[in-house]
Amino acid sequence: MQILHPFMGSVQQYFKEIADPDRCRPDHCPQCEADRPLTAHGFYSRTLVDTKFDGSIPVRRYLCHCCKRTISLLPEFALPYLRFSVTVIALFLIARLLGGSTLGAAAIAAMLPGMPYQRGQFWVRRFRSQAERLCATLAALIAPPSAPHFVSRALLMLQSIGWIAAHRFLFADLRFHLLGWPAFLTPDGRITALRPLTPPV
Ligand SMILES: [Zn+2]
Repeated sequence: MQILHPFMGSVQQYFKEIADPDRCRPDHCPQCEADRPLTAHGFYSRTLVDTKFDGSIPVRRYLCHCCKRTISLLPEFALPYLRFSVTVIALFLIARLLGGSTLGAAAIAAMLPGMPYQRGQFWVRRFRSQAERLCATLAALIAPPSAPHFVSRALLMLQSIGWIAAHRFLFADLRFHLLGWPAFLTPDGRITALRPLTPPV
């Protein structure tokens, strides 16, 4: 199960923070609610593309001795099952869907010149399918602004709240994925069947 790392900051700061296993150790298991601190259980590596970073980051894992399951702590700038950071995707979607940029110009706004246009289309498609639910959910944080459709309303709400703050609220509190969970997962992001995990796209 993935939960959010309590750390807030840049990718570069994250590398310094993650070295100490005690700094962010969960004090209970979110899966079985056992009220015991979890044991550090190494790292896994995942890829990440941010505005100033393109490479692998370590993700810290903890083990619950009661239910024998692991919990990984994902930094808040990363989205589960997506290689690209919240910031990069936000820059793209704002340019494309709020600013009316072409796919190519939106990729440049996201500092990803030369990105395959299909990737941007994939983000747009997933965001569109989430927009109405996002508006309803984010209304807990901010009054929905008037906008011609759910997509622009959701984008304006995300801009006002801050994308990473909104992601933290959606994911940490509600298990709501900003761009929707992949189809092989249940609505709250838990694995429904044993299938090989595809690498982040
Ligand atoms: Zn447990």
